[in-house]
Amino acid sequence: MRSIVLGRVACKRWREGANGVSDTLLKAVESDLARRRYGLRFSPIVEARFESDTSELRSRHLYLAGIVALVIYDLYLINDYAFRPESLQMAAWIRFGMMTPFGITALYFVRRGLSPAMREAVMTSTIVVGMLLSNLIFFLSKSTYSFLDTFSFGLILVMGNIVFTLRFFHAVASSLISGIIMTLFVYHYAPMEAEIKLYAFVVFISSAVFTLLANYRMEVSERQSYLLLLREQLRNSAALKDNQALAKISITDPLTGVANRRHFDAVLEHRWQEALTENTMLGMLVIDIDRFKNYNDHYGHLQGDACLRQVALEMQNYVRQEVDLVVRYGGEEFVVLLPNTSAASALHAAERIRRGIEALAIPQAGSGVITVSIGAAALRPHVTLAPAMLLTLADAALYQAKREGRNRSVLAPLRDDPLTV
Ligand code: GH3
Ligand code: MG
Ligand code: MG
Repeated sequence: MRSIVLGRVACKRWREGANGVSDTLLKAVESDLARRRYGLRFSPIVEARFESDTSELRSRHLYLAGIVALVIYDLYLINDYAFRPESLQMAAWIRFGMMTPFGITALYFVRRGLSPAMREAVMTSTIVVGMLLSNLIFFLSKSTYSFLDTFSFGLILVMGNIVFTLRFFHAVASSLISGIIMTLFVYHYAPMEAEIKLYAFVVFISSAVFTLLANYRMEVSERQSYLLLLREQLRNSAALKDNQALAKISITDPLTGVANRRHFDAVLEHRWQEALTENTMLGMLVIDIDRFKNYNDHYGHLQGDACLRQVALEMQNYVRQEVDLVVRYGGEEFVVLLPNTSAASALHAAERIRRGIEALAIPQAGSGVITVSIGAAALRPHVTLAPAMLLTLADAALYQAKREGRNRSVLAPLRDDPLTV
């Protein structure tokens, strides 16, 4: 059973919510473990998680164990038939007419799902009712060996404390109430010798002590394993998040938040291979802010940084989110990688970006607003070409744009060979 519980907890790993929630939970788990004597109750947040992780499985376990218990309880009719045939009808009535419907109703609700407190209370009540009805059968029968029943009452405790594994406090309560019920019936049962009554009590009390000890050990160890496992999973998920955050940092330009050159190198290679396989075109833009040195000199570096951020953010508005990649290539130079894009589409994208940045109307010292020059290129990758070729073409187009007076997009001349079209 434990392995199933652990499996379910494992599934939760991917469901961890916001970092804050897992952090608080992890702290609570660690402090529960440090307390060592957490015994039978975790701190509230861990207890709630324990319940949510285990309740479905526990309900199923209780339901199945309950069915087995009911069947065995009814099979005891064979014993009734064997040594108190004159009470068979009464026993059958109590077993099938009272215990079975009560048990089935209780199990139906447990299977359907009850609050933890109700679920445990209902299962405890099946033990108490089972004890009460067993005593009734024994008490109402005056056959010579009916008193032998009293020696089997310990089995009801085995059922509750070991098979159902009632939570410890419920196990203690149901054992105590069962003891009281048995005392009342046995005490008033005249055909039984006092010495035999005493013996029956000793057997019952020993059963209670043994099964309660086992019950306690089981619950403590179930809880301990759960706590250790939960701690591992929370730590793993925290480490995973850290790793993901680090991975993101390692591919992001810290100033602008767009991809950095390291990431660009990897993605270019990947996209190039992809285009090669799929025989599609790969487009690229190289974007350079015009007269940015003047801007810096006039407004200072901090303002220059803010301008770079604004420009980078704006570029992202004109690209396909999941497909294109905006990169800060260095300084005030950006690259946009455009998979599956023809030369005409690349030029079109370049113009949208150029106009968008101009429309930001970031004041430029002495010359209107901040503008960019863009070199665009596109080619169909081929095994005889290297990815750097695309960058060289776009870069050349950028310098042509600069030469021709800036604030413009220039498309790299289409090469003569058929590979580029
Ligand atoms: P052009 O139109 O020919 O591109 O002229 P330019 O002034 O933009 O070109 P140049 O290469 O001479 O100057 C680039 C400037 O970009 C130099 C530097 O001050 C600025 N720059 C580069 N990186 C950063 C940065 O991270 N922050 C800031 N604020 N400025 C930067
Ligand atoms: Mg520049
Ligand atoms: Mg430059």
